[in-house]
Amino acid sequence: MREPSFFYIANWKMQLTFAKTVLFCKKNQNNFELLTQKKNTKIVLCPSFESLAFVNDFFKKSSLSVGAQTCSSYEKGAYSGQVAAQSLSDIGCKYCLVGHSERRNFCSETDDDVAKKVQQLLKNNIIPIVCVGELKKEREEKKTYEVIERQIRAACQAVKKFTKESKIFIAYEPVWSIGTGDIPSNQEITEILKYITSIAKAVLPKISLVLLYGGSVHEKNVKILKEICDLDGFLVGGASLDFQKFQKIVT
Ligand code: PEP
Repeated sequence: MREPSFFYIANWKMQLTFAKTVLFCKKNQNNFELLTQKKNTKIVLCPSFESLAFVNDFFKKSSLSVGAQTCSSYEKGAYSGQVAAQSLSDIGCKYCLVGHSERRNFCSETDDDVAKKVQQLLKNNIIPIVCVGELKKEREEKKTYEVIERQIRAACQAVKKFTKESKIFIAYEPVWSIGTGDIPSNQEITEILKYITSIAKAVLPKISLVLLYGGSVHEKNVKILKEICDLDGFLVGGASLDFQKFQKIVT
């Protein structure tokens, strides 16, 4: 069954300091709250770690939710600098991105790390938003489906070890599209979402999927992207840091 809501996940990455996050939220508080009142619309803000508790608290009277950008693959222990999924849950995080290409590429995160993080999140009742997608070189070498299959299998096997029925979000984010302005055609996205679903269901028939697209979504291309059937939302990076642009994407 499809999700009744359409999701807009704003990935603020490490673009705003804590002070700037506070300013951004205060400046746009009313407008954010108005956006959340749009029917069947769910907004999730993903600030960096130090701002999560503030953003969650600031918007607690609205239906806006907060998500982290990653978490530790360990439960607890001598892992300096890491943040446990349980701590994210304690401060009110409902969602967490996992395997974003910037984590895979700059922090050498592997499919195995992603799998462990998915399990930590599920244990703590946080919905994982698993990011998958091919590099430009992989696309040129026609390896898109192979890469996606590997990434989806790893994440879904992790879910399977934990539960037979679960809801996870999967964001198809072609790496060559992130921040570049280049996007795949609607037909390509549709076919890849179908493939993602078929792989996930082959691993775990009762899995419930929320399918997102991410990569250069902005106010000028969103109307066309919204025509994609079976899409449940967008993961938005750059354009989510400009409230006017984000508002146009949502409305
Ligand atoms: C992202 O990094 O998740 C993303 C979607 O970025 P952008 O929208 O800036 O391409």
